[in-house]
Amino acid sequence: MARDPRFDVLFEPVEIGPVTAPNRFYQVPHCTGMGYRRPNSVAALRGVKAEGGWGTVCTEYCSIHPSSDDEPYPSASIWDDGDIRAMSLTVDKIHEHGALAGIELWHGGAASANNYTREVPLGPYSMPAGVYDPLQTKAMDKSDIKDLKRWHLEAARRARRAGFDIVYVYAAHWYLIHQFLLPSNRRTDEYGGSVENRARLLKELIIETKEEIGDTCAVAVRFSASTGGEDDDQNTTEPREMLELLGDLPDLWDITVHDYSYEMGTSRFVPEAGLEKTMSWVKSVTDKPVVSVGRFTSPETMLRLVRQGVIDLIGAARPSIADPFLPMKIAEGRQDEIRECIGCNICYTGDQTGTPIRCTQNPTMGEEWRKGWHPEYIPEKGSESSVLIVGGGPAGLEAALALGQRGYEVALTEARRELGGRVTLESRLPGLEEWVRVRDWRLTMIGKLKNVDYYLESEIDEDQILEYGADHVVIATGAKWRHDGVGRWHAQPITGWESTRVITPDDILAGFQPEGPVVVYDDDHYYIGGVIAELLRRDGLDVTLVTPANEISTWTRHTEEQYRIQQRIVELEIPIETCMALARVTADHAVLGSIYTGRTKEIEAATVVMITSRAPQDALYHSLAGQIAIDRIGDCLNPGTIATAVYSGHKFARDLDASVPVPFLRDSRVV
Ligand code: ADP
Ligand code: SF4
Repeated sequence: MARDPRFDVLFEPVEIGPVTAPNRFYQVPHCTGMGYRRPNSVAALRGVKAEGGWGTVCTEYCSIHPSSDDEPYPSASIWDDGDIRAMSLTVDKIHEHGALAGIELWHGGAASANNYTREVPLGPYSMPAGVYDPLQTKAMDKSDIKDLKRWHLEAARRARRAGFDIVYVYAAHWYLIHQFLLPSNRRTDEYGGSVENRARLLKELIIETKEEIGDTCAVAVRFSASTGGEDDDQNTTEPREMLELLGDLPDLWDITVHDYSYEMGTSRFVPEAGLEKTMSWVKSVTDKPVVSVGRFTSPETMLRLVRQGVIDLIGAARPSIADPFLPMKIAEGRQDEIRECIGCNICYTGDQTGTPIRCTQNPTMGEEWRKGWHPEYIPEKGSESSVLIVGGGPAGLEAALALGQRGYEVALTEARRELGGRVTLESRLPGLEEWVRVRDWRLTMIGKLKNVDYYLESEIDEDQILEYGADHVVIATGAKWRHDGVGRWHAQPITGWESTRVITPDDILAGFQPEGPVVVYDDDHYYIGGVIAELLRRDGLDVTLVTPANEISTWTRHTEEQYRIQQRIVELEIPIETCMALARVTADHAVLGSIYTGRTKEIEAATVVMITSRAPQDALYHSLAGQIAIDRIGDCLNPGTIATAVYSGHKFARDLDASVPVPFLRDSRVV
């Protein structure tokens, strides 16, 4: 199909200092959970983005010196010649497809506890370092500042030797240079106090980096347009004053905001183009190109922002993770095929847990090198087998699509009137609307295949499966929340769980309207407890949220949401009981016990929502295993995230009739 000419503007080249981006699609620096530890994996990942049409592809944050080590979070590094060789793997993969390669030089300052290198953390003044690490920075004296500038220049030289086209001075996200910019920097020398003084280090670094490598490489600056988010923009005049001071010094402004939970906020809290209001002033104070992010998946939004002169380059991390081929799909008039990011931030959990990136929408993300998976191409079928899939949730849908794309004859049966399983149901919860894209993209793509059929309102049993006679049967029937309270805290059912007043999220998702007061007992620790509490509170019920953990929804720290979730719960005046386990349910109360002392407390409860663990719905599998070729995927195999279910369905489809000698290649550093 031909491209809609309205989108031609997105494919115009953009001059960035001495280099030219072939189009406006710009993958901003983003972490991958790979960094210096997995150079082959990260090179393949970036290469796929370039192949998919991103005109500029950047690295993750890249440490310039051992005095900036973010372990256990895996950053890249460019400390020595070995790093140059490792980073040039990435550069070569990006250049293969004609894209520009950008490197984000980084010094963490007080954000780095240096637990790996044991070097002394540095800061503008002596301040707490790392994340609750019991150590402080050394206050940088003049010789430290001189060293820092030397390290930065040496790193820039190495970056050029590795072949990078764009070199960043990273002045955002509370890393070292940003720590100098902030009002908290009350140094009494020329690097602290006034706005001009606080901006001095950044200014010198831009000038010196340009002098050093600026003839062949563009110098970009990543900069916060606000110290807060849209709703917290105290101090927006300061970034503006600074940007006015620095104006046209760099070749490119990469504009972000200070607060990660806003900059890369989940769709539950931040909409597409969420930074627009905060940063739309930037182009009025500089003539240099501006890139910024906003979880852009809509070509119309991209077009509007370029036309309105808000940005010159479409910055993207997550949209490029969910769909590395997004630009190519627009270029070829295939917008309907864009696999839109759902804004769940599962991709960020890789970095936060020190493991390779993964994505809910794109099961191949992070698997490009170690498994040889490509987001757009999949090997042809290995036999003429037919496949019957039972269950049309994310696992079943992904398996149907990927098997269909391989060329298998696929039939999928779904008990309900609509496909999507948990995704369809959960996307009706407050703030989770975008999650339905997991279903919709798969339905769009399945709709293009002649060899995949699906049947709704078709609950199928053992006899019907046998009668159907498919060569392979895949059970994708999901999981159900347990009523009995067994989970992390309780290995045995909780006394009183049989009461009809004890319900689960499945009951609420099925439309059951509980009576208040309600106790939501969350021993799951991801999003569902907080969302259910929010839903019921908005329905006007008195709700108390109880968890054995130290804070609510604690796993959402990895998705950068915990603060926002707790803020929402507090704003809704939902009382929170932390470090309390549900001890028993009585006629009209929930009895809680302190996890430390066992001391009990009663809370009036007409309803208890039990959110502890899920039971796989695997009866079909067990009754047919051994009789026919049958497998389980998704929550029916092991309940987990939607990302896990999608991955499970995709993996099954890839592995069918394929020889997989090792689960994946193990990466190691190139020395
Ligand atoms: P997953 O996350 O693993 O994809 P879900 O719970 O989201 O699991 O989806 C499972 C789907 O399977 C649901 O839509 C459910 O209605 C469907 N299902 C369960 N049992 C049957 C059955 N016997 N026949 C057809 N569909 C079924
Ligand atoms: Fe988007 Fe979620 Fe994929 Fe991240 S994991 S890119 S937020 S869909």
